[in-house]
Amino acid sequence: MKVSSNKITDVYAHYLAQLSVKWSSQESTGILKQFFHHFLQIPPHQLVHNFEKRISESQLLLIHFAVKDLMSNKPIQYILGVTSFLDLELHINENALIPRPETEELVSKIIHQFANHHPQRILDIGTGSGCIALALKSKFPESEVWAVDFSSSAIELAQKNADALQLKVNFLILDILDSNSTEDLPEKFDLIVSNPPYVLPSEKPLMQANVLDYEPHAALFVPENDPLLFYRKIAQRANASLTEGGHLWFEINENQSPAMQEMLQPWFQFTEVIHDFRDRIRFTHSIK
Ligand code: GLN
Repeated sequence: MKVSSNKITDVYAHYLAQLSVKWSSQESTGILKQFFHHFLQIPPHQLVHNFEKRISESQLLLIHFAVKDLMSNKPIQYILGVTSFLDLELHINENALIPRPETEELVSKIIHQFANHHPQRILDIGTGSGCIALALKSKFPESEVWAVDFSSSAIELAQKNADALQLKVNFLILDILDSNSTEDLPEKFDLIVSNPPYVLPSEKPLMQANVLDYEPHAALFVPENDPLLFYRKIAQRANASLTEGGHLWFEINENQSPAMQEMLQPWFQFTEVIHDFRDRIRFTHSIK
């Protein structure tokens, strides 16, 4: 079925009906208002006042493809190209994971821990959109922050976010699994943080289509036979490059918590396991 005219009232009615097949009418209204706001700069409270206005064919196409993408499970953050992380607004695309609330919680715990003695040097491994590194830099402006990722397109996105937020973070392309990768990092850090891939392929049936179909698998999955692959490499590096008393924070797979503790214990003087707001084991914190 075609939209009956380019009048906003007709466009609105047409796509509301489409969205309502999948979402409740309240949700559909909310989504559509967001699209009109984002793509056509018509704020939600002005939409009804503009019902009699006509939009151009290219404006109609923007709404059309946004609805189509959403109907095929594309996450709304990728459609809009923006998302929020704590108090930052970030650009986001399919080269990086959409930041999760658990990861906001990780950063918030780190900020709390360093409230009275800001870290001098911070390293974020597997930075993706740059969310962790940028949020830490915005809270600790005096800290020097480095962030690495194996994906050059993720680093490009993270750099774009840093530029937009006017935050100085040193982003580098570096594959943590490749011990030969040339690098330009300082020798010592006071804080190393990472949210590496931790989902096992066997856990796929528990995941949602929008995650599986659109988010980068390289940022999610770890080989079935080596769930701690990234953690071991990072812990090894942290053991060598944390200052005495330096902190290592991880976001982890709750099913791996005993193995994680066993792996970390010999290397660090202290390791604790921490639950997230869903009361699932989600973080480890170790002190060198
Ligand atoms: N928490 C993410 C998810 O549930 C996984 C993040 C990761 O692998 N680091 O999809």
